[in-house]
Amino acid sequence: MSRSMLFRAKCVLAMPGAWKRFGVLVGNERRPPEALLREQEAAKRRLVTAAVTQVPFYKKFYGEAGFGLGDMGQEGWFEKLPIVTKAEIREHFEEMTNPALRRFRRVSTTGGSTGTPTKTGYDGRVPEAIYSWRLQSWFGIRPWDDHAYVWRVPVASRLARLKNAAMWWPTRHLKLDASFMDERSMGAFLARYDQARPALLQGYVGAVTQLAQFVLDRGLEVWAPRCVWVTSAPLSPVQRALLKRAFRAPVCDQYGSCEIRWVAQQCPEEDGLHVNVEHVAIEFVDGDNRPVPVGEYGRALLTNLEDFVFPLIRYENGDRGRWLGKPCACGRSLPLIDSIKGRESESFVLPSGLVVNGEFLTTLFDNDPDLVRGFRVTQHRDASITVAYVPAQESEDARRRVDEIRARLSRQLNDEVPVVFEPVAELPHDRGKLRFVVRER
Ligand SMILES: [Zn+2]
Repeated sequence: MSRSMLFRAKCVLAMPGAWKRFGVLVGNERRPPEALLREQEAAKRRLVTAAVTQVPFYKKFYGEAGFGLGDMGQEGWFEKLPIVTKAEIREHFEEMTNPALRRFRRVSTTGGSTGTPTKTGYDGRVPEAIYSWRLQSWFGIRPWDDHAYVWRVPVASRLARLKNAAMWWPTRHLKLDASFMDERSMGAFLARYDQARPALLQGYVGAVTQLAQFVLDRGLEVWAPRCVWVTSAPLSPVQRALLKRAFRAPVCDQYGSCEIRWVAQQCPEEDGLHVNVEHVAIEFVDGDNRPVPVGEYGRALLTNLEDFVFPLIRYENGDRGRWLGKPCACGRSLPLIDSIKGRESESFVLPSGLVVNGEFLTTLFDNDPDLVRGFRVTQHRDASITVAYVPAQESEDARRRVDEIRARLSRQLNDEVPVVFEPVAELPHDRGKLRFVVRER
């Protein structure tokens, strides 16, 4: 029996309906965008109807906002619904659960960049793997191909590990624990990786970048997968260039939030991220919660269209982004968003009140990506700013160009606060997540 037949047979048992649903996703990619949007509107109505009639939190939340099911006839009804934040999830976790479907609720806990752990629920019935298959299919990877992960390896019992291996057999899943990476673990992983020749290398941006750096520093020539798929933090042009050099493969930037994981991903054009419109509705809004024009940055609001167990409707996760408003050269009709930039909470405030956006700070080296291997911008408590960077070149010219970037940044900040550029040997990452813009509090 071939790998693909085994995989599909196991799929039928473990994830009924998933393979068929995946076929629908593939078909959707070539349908007119208007047809997809019409279906998304219908999905919003189904979800909100269920939430208002079955979920205690939404009954009260929308009731207090004066919203009734009859209002769905109005133009722009969805955009008038009040916004859900992390605070609501923390305070109303049980009431946000659909009591009739409670047995299907799964729980995940995330640290998040604010350091406040958030517990969130999700619908365990949704076969989210199909969105991972969608991403892989764009790079010619099949779900039953071998994969390598640079990931947090959860503590699991021996039985759980055996079960997992049995589920995937004969597909091999190599893992490198992103929480504890050193020369020995990276060297051992790469040896197995080169032998297994996986179709996919997947992991946290910071951790995969660290692995790429290890490869380049030692002048290693390692196996080139069909795709390097990174997630969990913004991917800078500097890191993208580094990953391509080390693994000689296309790089796919995937965006998901801890609470809604399969939001958008890049195709091989690497020009914006295609939104999974069947799964999630995205809005970008301004300070008054009005939609921002196409091309302008706004706060992201996410709606999980498939989760009827723990509905998240117009959920503000703290990220910022924008619509690109152009078709993709690949021809897929899923709309494009730009790469998600820094978190809103990571903007800097200068003594004069000038707010320096995280989006801007992540672009410091965009015009000279060959100068650095990585960087991090920190604002200290006294408002001064340090840019720690790992130099990629040691020449006089490189130092001069870095100093020009420093001088330009200082000017842009009206010379209000000291700006120091500090060369460092490496940037520590936080359990695989490299944070670009850090504000000390
Ligand atoms: Zn595309």
